[in-house]
Amino acid sequence: SNIVAIVGRPNVGKSTLFNRLLERREAIVDSTAGVTRDRHYGKSDWNGVDFTVIDTGGYDVGTEDIFEEEIRKQVQLAIDEATSIIFMVNVEEGLTDTDHEIYNLLRKANKPLYLVVNKVDSAKEELPATEFYQLGIEKYYTLSSATGSGTGDLLDDVVNDFPTTDYKDPFEGLPKITIAGRPNVGKSTLTNALLDVERNIVTDIAGTTRDSIQTLYNKFGHEFVLVDTAGMRKKNKVSEDLEFYSVMRSIRSIEFSDVVIIMVDATLGWESQDMNIFGLAQKNRKGIVIVVNKWDLVEKDTNTTRDFEAAIKSKIGQFTDIPILFVSALTKQRILKAVEVAMEVYNDRAKKIKTSKLNEVMLPVFEALPPPAIKGKYVKIKYCVQLPTPSPQFVFFCNLPQYVKEPYKRFTENQLRKHFGFTGVPIEVYFRQK
Ligand code: GDP
Repeated sequence: SNIVAIVGRPNVGKSTLFNRLLERREAIVDSTAGVTRDRHYGKSDWNGVDFTVIDTGGYDVGTEDIFEEEIRKQVQLAIDEATSIIFMVNVEEGLTDTDHEIYNLLRKANKPLYLVVNKVDSAKEELPATEFYQLGIEKYYTLSSATGSGTGDLLDDVVNDFPTTDYKDPFEGLPKITIAGRPNVGKSTLTNALLDVERNIVTDIAGTTRDSIQTLYNKFGHEFVLVDTAGMRKKNKVSEDLEFYSVMRSIRSIEFSDVVIIMVDATLGWESQDMNIFGLAQKNRKGIVIVVNKWDLVEKDTNTTRDFEAAIKSKIGQFTDIPILFVSALTKQRILKAVEVAMEVYNDRAKKIKTSKLNEVMLPVFEALPPPAIKGKYVKIKYCVQLPTPSPQFVFFCNLPQYVKEPYKRFTENQLRKHFGFTGVPIEVYFRQK
């Protein structure tokens, strides 16, 4: 998918634009329970075109002294990862040395670059804005943080300039699995271990989505495509320290996959970044398998596994019907089990329940335990169907859908899981007027 990065020195107003773009759509990770980090990336759309926005200033410390370190990293991030770059400056402070430095880095990137002059809130600020022509650009865009005007013109051009892809997925219809997780958790080790298992039949197709590699795996009766990024097997050392990179990689490979193996470091436990990845996978309605790696390093007694599992489940909240496996990518212990479980989750996600069967099972459940009446009015659920969507979504037709509250929706979801088994798969339930 296309990625638009917003770059600029601290306090020019990057996050204002970012938030405005995201208001149009919910942030990817924002409302997921347990996510405490600020949001720095999310989805937006313009004229019906979807894109991901990153606010590279998410890690702003707030001073310009950090230029050498942080801003340079942000700029590098934008250059490496983004489809288009919005370079934001600010009419109040005018053109600064830092702006010059950033621009010099950016213009070498050979990517669509949009200079955006922020805080042009009145006609009398239009004139000072012209000083930005000193950068040697042909055109700039003005934004008013006060009124929000200008965003439309900018986005028209940004979206219009997105590269057109005539990419045809060579593995269409095959299960796509990605391994996501923090840096150094063991993703590369597992990827290589799996591919080592059968080196001969591995097929690499590079440059599918930018930098992402699909590798066909076919062994022990399992055929699937391992989706990873170029960076995973051939590491970009410069960027390893920047959490952003792993986040961006995760976003891209998660969007491209059916099942996400979330890899957790057994020696560190479940941390906030794991939660973010989990939130991403869940919001994108992907199948999820949690793989606790480096299990060889853990001193074990009888309850270790159970306790570890319980600790993760307590963090991930309601949707806990997720397989958790304990592996060692290094010693290859249980890595084939991880593949098998991922395939099971894939099949569960693709599963379609026949309408007759669904009604036969669910209607008596509702009959026995209907939604609580509100003001003497009873909800009667009459009919249900599963939608033909890639991940399971169910619609329940009833007389008073507005009376069906969150706890009952959760109850319905749990009943679906209980009767039909959707392990590791996010389920949506909707109540609609008949
Ligand atoms: P990535 O950044 O997630 O791709 O992580 P790597 O695969 O590069 O692994 C990071 C480090 O952890 C390397 O030194 C690996 O050898 C080590 N490592 C990976 N998996 C295991 C494991 O299961 N057990 C142990 N003891 N070390 C591991």
